[in-house]
Amino acid sequence: MPGLSLPEPRFETEPFWTGGERGELLIYRCDDCGLWLHPPKPVCRRCLSRSVGPMAVSGLGTVYSHTVNHQPWIPGVAVPYTLAIVELDEEPGLRVSTRLTGAEPADVRIGQRVTVVFEHREDVWLPYFTPVPEEAER
Ligand SMILES: [Zn+2]
Repeated sequence: MPGLSLPEPRFETEPFWTGGERGELLIYRCDDCGLWLHPPKPVCRRCLSRSVGPMAVSGLGTVYSHTVNHQPWIPGVAVPYTLAIVELDEEPGLRVSTRLTGAEPADVRIGQRVTVVFEHREDVWLPYFTPVPEEAER
């Protein structure tokens, strides 16, 4: 789960961890059939195309599930905090594991609208999610 230690970007996961430098959440997508692929893979699982690569998504999604972490795993990171799986707007089933910020753990609910924010640490930009203000919800 994110938040436990800093990820070490590999070739395919590097865009996901560094797109935040430009404010972009980059998710792999198949150029041939349009399927989003996360975690990123070098081959599309639906059409087996190798023409896949990172594309920026809207950064909007909904909370699919969440849990509260009470263990102080990381020095300097206050507990409790919320770990969540967010389903991105781009495609049903396109889900990322993340941390929720800007909300008390008790206030988080399934289906809550969230948007990506980035926390810059060393050479990665951790994609976290924060609630969308009510007035901005569709
Ligand atoms: Zn495909």
